[in-house]
Amino acid sequence: AQPLLSVRDLRVEYMTPAGPVCAVDGVSFEIGRGEVLGLAGESGSGKSTAAQALLRLLRPPAMITGGEVIFDGQDVLAMDNEQLRQFRWSKMSFVFQSAMNALNPILSIGEQIADAIQAHVPMKQAQAMEKAASLLNLVGIDSSRLSSYPHQLSGGMRQRVVIAIALALDPPLMIMDEPTTALDVVVQKEILQQITELKNKLGFSILFITHDLSLLVEFSTRIAILYAGRVVETATASELFHSPKHPYTKGLLSSAPSLRGPRGKLVGIPGSPPDMRVPPPGCRFNPRCSQVMAHCRTEEPKVSTFGPHHLSVCHLHAP
Ligand code: SF4
Ligand code: MG
Repeated sequence: AQPLLSVRDLRVEYMTPAGPVCAVDGVSFEIGRGEVLGLAGESGSGKSTAAQALLRLLRPPAMITGGEVIFDGQDVLAMDNEQLRQFRWSKMSFVFQSAMNALNPILSIGEQIADAIQAHVPMKQAQAMEKAASLLNLVGIDSSRLSSYPHQLSGGMRQRVVIAIALALDPPLMIMDEPTTALDVVVQKEILQQITELKNKLGFSILFITHDLSLLVEFSTRIAILYAGRVVETATASELFHSPKHPYTKGLLSSAPSLRGPRGKLVGIPGSPPDMRVPPPGCRFNPRCSQVMAHCRTEEPKVSTFGPHHLSVCHLHAP
């Protein structure tokens, strides 16, 4: 079957006075219907930039300079402004990292959800409020909260309101960029659990972006690992967890204490991601890799496959 979303060789550059800096460098992935694709990597790996490019939300100096984004047969990069306006939110919605703090403090929750609906679909106020009430129920908030203001809700509830708004038009795909990072671990788990239930019930797909790989292992269908603007490994969640191939993925897994239990040693990955103005030649991970070989510093590694859904880009796999 055709994937819902297909991203091919996506490239995003920041036009700086010193010249273009490539933040997303030939990223490819697919998302099937009802799938959760987890996109993980350290901050600065290009995950948020790539996600925003899918909805063409980037503003100068960031520019999409190559690739293809095909959503359900539609070429997103070729859409004009009117097509984009109709596409956003109804086909693909976006929950931003800081969205729960971006709710309007002087409007009630009900008014905000209703406004958001009416901005896209003309309907009477009473009808929009009814829809708002059912959306709140959907995310587990009692509709008596329609008249509450953001400051009267907990962080977890505010984040649920944001998710309700993102689901208002039944989009087939919801992009979530670190949607639970600001919340404590228990609330994070509750919200992920609830998103999973909603996804199973309503059948939408999710692109879930996080720096916390441990969250993804339970929650995702497949996972793509991004390093310095490139995908270094893609696999099903269980394969990535049980049989990671790329040294960077192995490092990320060993630096996630919740995966190894409370007594697990926090190994981490030494060093930090490269300065993208001058990425290292060869494999971009070479300055931090414990298994680096001489040719890693000069030659770019190629993609190796380990079964139909598992790719890794590393010289160690070369025959
Ligand atoms: Fe490490 Fe070389 Fe593989 Fe890069 S290509 S991850 S430096 S072994
Ligand atoms: Mg980010």
